[in-house]
Amino acid sequence: LSAPMIAIDGPSGSGKGTLAKRLAKRFGWQLLDSGAIYRVLALAAIHHNIALDDEEALAALATNLDVVFETREDSEVVSVILEGEDVSGTLRTEETGAAASKVAPFPKVRAALLQRQRAFRTAQGLIADGRDMGTVVFPDAPVKIFLTASAEERARRRVSQLQSAGQSANIAQILADIQARDDRDMNRSVAPLRPAVDALELDSTEFSLDDVEAQVVAYAQSKL
Ligand code: C5P
Repeated sequence: LSAPMIAIDGPSGSGKGTLAKRLAKRFGWQLLDSGAIYRVLALAAIHHNIALDDEEALAALATNLDVVFETREDSEVVSVILEGEDVSGTLRTEETGAAASKVAPFPKVRAALLQRQRAFRTAQGLIADGRDMGTVVFPDAPVKIFLTASAEERARRRVSQLQSAGQSANIAQILADIQARDDRDMNRSVAPLRPAVDALELDSTEFSLDDVEAQVVAYAQSKL
């Protein structure tokens, strides 16, 4: 019998990252934020002056990626250390997300990161969030969620996030960035963003995160 887990996929800003954190805490399971791995790889490439379209060099870098995710007891990540340097601050910016989506389409890069992601699955249980958790990395996950929200709603959420962090935000620009990233993630030939055939699709446009969490917990309990 395989270890219990929930795979959560969806576009950026759908709320899957926050949902994944809440569920990991609730069940006491491990958490895999797979997007953080692609983000770290993009940062490493920039540090080493590797072009974001140099598949061979990126794959070699991915194989030897020296990254430590420092976590608290509840498995929430507190800092991300890349080659000895704390990159937690730059990891979450829009620029890093955009760079991550440029290194992510290459098959050799994705193959090089597969085992690193699968290693997060232990007997304890796992919540994994990303773009291809249910389709490629954990195709046998017993529970798969595909979480979406309209691009406009995701842009609004991002703007209020930035504003509450005291940063300025241009909604038109943010919407354009979100649409460009969706386009790259959905239209690449390897592991494109799409729901697994056996995923529960949820649209969070009109729902609070509490509602979404309650729906996912009820669904997971019926399946696990
Ligand atoms: O989820 P996050 O915004 O951190 O992901 C950054 C980028 O990494 C995504 O836009 C996507 O291109 C890539 N990614 C991926 N597969 C995953 C997770 C992220 O291709 N499982």
